[in-house]
Amino acid sequence: MIESYLDKIQSTARLNAFIQIFGNEALSRAAELDSKKDRPASWGKLYGVVIGIKDVLCFKGHTVSAASNILKVYTAIYNATAIQRLIDEDAIIIGNLNCDEFAMGSSNENSSYGNVLNAIDESRVPGGSSGGSAVAVQADLCMISLGSDTGGSVRQPADFCGIIGMKPGYGRISRYGLLAYASSFDQIGVFSKNIADLALTLSVISGKDEFDSTCSIAEVPDYSNLLSTDKKFKIAYFPQSLEHTSLDPEIRSGILKLMETLKLQGHSLEAVDFSYLDHIVPAYYVLTTAEASSNLSRYDGVKFGYRTPAQVSDLQELYRKTRSEGFGKEVQRRIMLGTFVLSTGYYDAYYAKAQKVRRLIVNKTKDVFKDHDLIIMPTVPSTAFKFGEKSNDAIEMFLGDLYTVYANLAGIPGISLPLFKHSNGMPFGLQVMSDRLNETTLLQFSNLLMENPAN
Ligand code: GLN
Repeated sequence: MIESYLDKIQSTARLNAFIQIFGNEALSRAAELDSKKDRPASWGKLYGVVIGIKDVLCFKGHTVSAASNILKVYTAIYNATAIQRLIDEDAIIIGNLNCDEFAMGSSNENSSYGNVLNAIDESRVPGGSSGGSAVAVQADLCMISLGSDTGGSVRQPADFCGIIGMKPGYGRISRYGLLAYASSFDQIGVFSKNIADLALTLSVISGKDEFDSTCSIAEVPDYSNLLSTDKKFKIAYFPQSLEHTSLDPEIRSGILKLMETLKLQGHSLEAVDFSYLDHIVPAYYVLTTAEASSNLSRYDGVKFGYRTPAQVSDLQELYRKTRSEGFGKEVQRRIMLGTFVLSTGYYDAYYAKAQKVRRLIVNKTKDVFKDHDLIIMPTVPSTAFKFGEKSNDAIEMFLGDLYTVYANLAGIPGISLPLFKHSNGMPFGLQVMSDRLNETTLLQFSNLLMENPAN
């Protein structure tokens, strides 16, 4: 079985989804697992499941680079908690996957390993930042993959590639061993082709962890056994999200039609006024770049990773040269933006203000979930675009994150379900969100929709 995955990975190498393939290691791990194939009682929950991981997750003894030149020479010295838990349940990790540098991007065009191609239409982007993780599942190069989602990096590429992508609520999965982008937003997420696989993987990697104090100590429900329900859900939607000028009319009509069907099926759908929509992308980019500028200060050429080979006269010059040569343009832009919004003269005008916007959004979200089980929204305003179409216009690229950054600002779980096809031939998804740490409700509703597509 591993051989067939390895063959497929080789024959689709042009997609550029994988950065490294752990071929021999995966084969010997499979042989090791094979030795207990007659003893099902000894099998872990993910016995023999072939998994790919985004290049931001530490897998001991393997390079982890966040697709950045600054970390290409760095080898992980421990396992991320999520990775350790996969291994403990007998999963096989087959390789690590391409992404935007430091998970900053929406198209995978910011990787130092080059673009990842969307397997449905190779002239189009797979989305980002977890583009390799999405394509690896889309093209059946592994069964499940892990990504990270700071502002949509799991849900948006899942939408563009026609698969399922979910980020749980903030704190559900330990971030220990996940290279940080914006720590108060980052969450590990899962890509799959069905809800059962996703639920099982999520239950394995979730839960308290002494190595991450922001990880919730709440019990992890047995998601797999809770999927079936005949419950009628109370669903909220924000009219502003469906009326937004950037939304492709076909995506709008697809979702409106689905909403009608859901009503006929007995679910309730209620419009909830949400006046913050145009403020969420700016707030997201102020806060995440601020956090990134701090998190990425550790890559200085002294402690680890790339160091400039140039002769330097002092430490300042070593830092400057190392960081200018090691970081790509998008990462540099964000470090500078983040440093700016945190600087004395601008802190109140930008950073503090964005924090207030976040507070309003969190409060509003709490209110919505007092009377509703779920919120639905498009995942992305457009389908997968062509390479180069947005890469010279940062603002336009950022605005594409309109619907996904909300869940990260609010810390709630979100999923993109591949329910639709556009007349341009590309898939698009429905985004569903639930209350903080209520992944069970989200997965139940998702299961219902995936088993019984209402559209
Ligand atoms: N596209 C968003 C950004 O560029 C989200 C990235 C992410 O979730 N890692 O920041």
